[in-house]
Amino acid sequence: MLIDTHAHLDEQAFENDLEEVLLRAAQQGIEAILSIGVTEASSRAALALAKAVPQVHAVVGIQPNYVSQAGSDDFEMIAAYAGDPHVVGIGETGLDRYWDYAPIDLQRDYFRRHIELSRHVDKPFIVHCREAEADVVALLRELAPGGPLRGVMHSFAGDLQTAQACLDLGLHISFAGMVTFKSNAALREVVREIPLNRLLVETDAPYLAPVPMRGKRNEPAYIVHTARCLADVKGIEFAELAEITTNNARSLFGLPIPD
Ligand SMILES: [Zn+2]
Repeated sequence: MLIDTHAHLDEQAFENDLEEVLLRAAQQGIEAILSIGVTEASSRAALALAKAVPQVHAVVGIQPNYVSQAGSDDFEMIAAYAGDPHVVGIGETGLDRYWDYAPIDLQRDYFRRHIELSRHVDKPFIVHCREAEADVVALLRELAPGGPLRGVMHSFAGDLQTAQACLDLGLHISFAGMVTFKSNAALREVVREIPLNRLLVETDAPYLAPVPMRGKRNEPAYIVHTARCLADVKGIEFAELAEITTNNARSLFGLPIPD
């Protein structure tokens, strides 16, 4: 059993063979996949897919690189989707100083709105953070007094200090394929320090496939490689890592236990 807590199944990369992709995931024992929205349109697509496919659940939001192009009603639409029972989380949201596609203040404004929405509908939020670790932690600290922060630092690539700050704020830490790259020993050192009850695993498919699939289109079935890497770093059996991270994802996102 495994749960892919972050994939973009509505992307063009999957338009010709999504059924086979889902079948391969099921064959690897992946009981659930969270399909993450990055715009109003992709959030709507994620929700439609979640309604059609029992193993897929939707997360809706506007990713920081897209907030400049968002229409004036887009966030209201996201808020409307957020109440649907097929939607299990809000995002992805956060801050991105790498691409710099949107002014940082506008990114902050949307980040705050996503967290407020997450509290309003009582569903966790998913944070995208790229070269903006200090800003993300500062904003989370600013909002922390308003109530518990229930969320995930997705595809975590920051340092231990950032991870610790996010853990202290109550967040989960999710690792994607980058943790398997040979050059990323520092990130595996961070994994070592993450308590097992806050650890999640994801693919971020179709991007950044784990070793030994690096360079290929990523897909949820490949999550086994990342999970194996995490188990090795933690010094536990693959099955135990799979069970722990699956239980973490189930309880954080309120996912059903398949029969
Ligand atoms: Zn993503």
